Amino acid sequence: MEGTNREAPGGNEDYLKYYDLLKRIGVLDELQHYRNEISNLEEIISQAVELLSKSSIEEVLEVVVQGLMDKFIPSYLTLILQEAGVEGKILVKCYERLREIPPPFEITSLDGYREFFERHPSSISFSLFEYKVPSPGLVEPLRAVEAEILVPVIGMGGVYGLIVFGKKVLGEDYTPQELAYIGRLVGFVSISLQNNIHYRSSIMDFKTGIYNASFFMRRLEEELYRVKRYGGHLGLIILDVDHFKLFNDRYGHLAGDEVLISIARDIKQNLRKGDVAARYGGEEFVVLLPGANRNAAYIVAERVRHSIELMKVYFEDKILHVTVSVGVTSCTRYRLLDPRKLIEEADQALYLSKERGRNRTTVYRKGLLSLAEEYREALLEQVRT
Ligand code: GH3
Ligand code: MG
Ligand code: MG
Repeated sequence: MEGTNREAPGGNEDYLKYYDLLKRIGVLDELQHYRNEISNLEEIISQAVELLSKSSIEEVLEVVVQGLMDKFIPSYLTLILQEAGVEGKILVKCYERLREIPPPFEITSLDGYREFFERHPSSISFSLFEYKVPSPGLVEPLRAVEAEILVPVIGMGGVYGLIVFGKKVLGEDYTPQELAYIGRLVGFVSISLQNNIHYRSSIMDFKTGIYNASFFMRRLEEELYRVKRYGGHLGLIILDVDHFKLFNDRYGHLAGDEVLISIARDIKQNLRKGDVAARYGGEEFVVLLPGANRNAAYIVAERVRHSIELMKVYFEDKILHVTVSVGVTSCTRYRLLDPRKLIEEADQALYLSKERGRNRTTVYRKGLLSLAEEYREALLEQVRT
């Protein structure tokens, strides 16, 4: 076929013959420029692939730091990001000469930056930002990290945060190539962080910052599978705030929310790594205790219950207290239950705790429901007489 086997025009000989001419008119430089560009793009693509496979913000930042090490060292590199799934919490990560340090400033809201970058959705030099936004609250934290270039992290949900590049350690300006690299890299970092944010908000309870019920159910199924396969115990605890309706009526819903946040924090503080705490419903919490038998689960449940009993919730000028009632159950491969049955057992135990007067822990056992009914009858009898 014509064309396929023909020798390409301009083979080696031609190339040598015209070398000087090609060099003189700049073709060779241009060729080199494109080669460099291709190698830069190949590098950024492999970094993008790596970035998109990372599941935590720490891992994403590690790829960024590694990428920069080969190129240039900024005095500071700072990430300011809306924390996923937690209302109003800001995550700040700071690196000095690419080594992580505690952030030298505190930021309580992203609002000012968000407002600016929603109007100017691209990178900007710090000097121009400072000129356009002469607000010390926004400018001073950035000055503390020798800001030179600000790059917004933008996704479908708007501005998630910003990445701040400090001056280069050697003091020179950023070259256009470096700026292009930063732009591309942060583009992929944005996508990766968004994935992370969306994933985390899909498994977290927005109000309390612990896991939500659907994530809990998934973990429960996994743990039950593990017990079935490898043996061992699995403990489950359900907690429900006592007379919470009354509490809300008396102190207001905002005070109630504050209580839920404090309880979530308190539960987490009383657990070990590997335990899973979640908000199961309005004022109900669940805890999964891999490896815990009935007794161990009871001990944890009592520790948490007692700790909540002592907990002080500061709201406006008041110090508020609540109690919780708790139900406990557990299983092994010899008495294996499906997830809903296990929760139902803990729920029955919780019900008995309520009937027995609240602020207590009950461990599930067979026939417990009829016991709860007996308590109920006795209570009604007392009320009647
Ligand atoms: P018991 O001791 O029997 O559990 O009584 P209770 O009042 O806690 O139970 P009930 O189920 O009657 O009421 C639950 C209350 O929890 C009613 C609801 O307004 C409140 N609640 C549920 N979710 C939230 C929330 O997110 N914030 C606030 N502040 N209250 C909530
Ligand atoms: Mg309830
Ligand atoms: Mg309740």
